[in-house]
Amino acid sequence: MRTPFQETSEALFLTSGYAYEAPEEAEARFKGEAEGYQYSRFGNPTVTMFEQRMAALEGAPVARATASGMAAVTATFLSALRVGDHVVAAKAMFGSCRHVIEEILPRFGIQSTLVDGGDIGQWAAAMRPGTRMLFLETPSNPTLAIVDMKAVAKIARDGGARLVVDNAFATPVLQRPMEFGADIVIHSATKYIDGQGRALGGVILCKEDFLKDHLQSFIRNTGPSISPFNAWIHLKSLETLDLRMRAHCEAAATVADFLAEQKNVTRVLYPFRPDHPQHNLACAQMEGGGGVVAFEVRGGKAGAFKVGNALKLIDISNNLGDAKSLITHPETTTHQKLTPAARAELGVTSGLLRLSVGLEDPADLCDDLAQALAAA
Ligand SMILES: *Cc1c(COP(=O)(O)O)cnc(C)c1O
Repeated sequence: MRTPFQETSEALFLTSGYAYEAPEEAEARFKGEAEGYQYSRFGNPTVTMFEQRMAALEGAPVARATASGMAAVTATFLSALRVGDHVVAAKAMFGSCRHVIEEILPRFGIQSTLVDGGDIGQWAAAMRPGTRMLFLETPSNPTLAIVDMKAVAKIARDGGARLVVDNAFATPVLQRPMEFGADIVIHSATKYIDGQGRALGGVILCKEDFLKDHLQSFIRNTGPSISPFNAWIHLKSLETLDLRMRAHCEAAATVADFLAEQKNVTRVLYPFRPDHPQHNLACAQMEGGGGVVAFEVRGGKAGAFKVGNALKLIDISNNLGDAKSLITHPETTTHQKLTPAARAELGVTSGLLRLSVGLEDPADLCDDLAQALAAA
């Protein structure tokens, strides 16, 4: 979408409102009889450009951008679900998604069942007549567990429910869940889509009917809308998404192989390593293993903290998908609120570290990890 200036870089329309030539035109736009923007809570040209490009990348009919990934998740649930409805979700998911499902949805009379995402029998057994949505994240945070999207999509379809996939870890470059039967795809654009750790954002990709029947009026009236400035950052970042994801995958694979050779490392989890428990499924669904590697060091929490304290190049941060490599100790940060039993179920052990491999030279990252593991 170009302005008459014929700019090569997409324009940033940092505006809240739009002027009308005449009151008749305003009336027509409010009635939906004339095309055009009315207010940036409902829509904005820069935001539209970002949404259209995300839809093209995912192969989705339509997209709506939101202020954050969590705004996208929450809007998806609350726009469509009502009292008495039921949700089935894979246990291994982003902490805030679990909070929304377990703490917020029940206040509106929406119940849920959490299942082991890798056990298809559990998905089928959890279905009830009132089940309206199935929610999963693949690969999951932090242990990179893979869920068979085709199998879960069939269960959703047979039960008259929609399958929602959180695609933040893979991005549309590595995985397009709609090709496997997902009805709705959600992104935290904050992660790899921005890719440089600057701006929050989220995206919901869906079919026309979901947008028209649920999402459109929910976003318009409740306001989880993205700032045009943040949408512009994400839009510009899409130009390098493919290149960046390839580089993240290549570096992460190198770092994962390196870690697997280290004597203080007891376990490495990376979807494209043959020793990943769901390696074949990962290869069937993804075009690359992604940028995140999880690994377990000797000595539990103390061992993991020693590694963290000794790292020089790799920063300690719970964010991921940045050009800078970031490491976190899930037990004490992202998964701190879970009970020890829930953590054990997900494989979040005391010695586990999650490394988001950035775009630095992988040899430098391996050197940093080697000296930190030696110091520990
Ligand atoms: C970060 C993240 C979210 C939440 O996104 P925000 O942009 O931080 O609100 C949701 N799901 C996954 C898998 C994430 O990594």
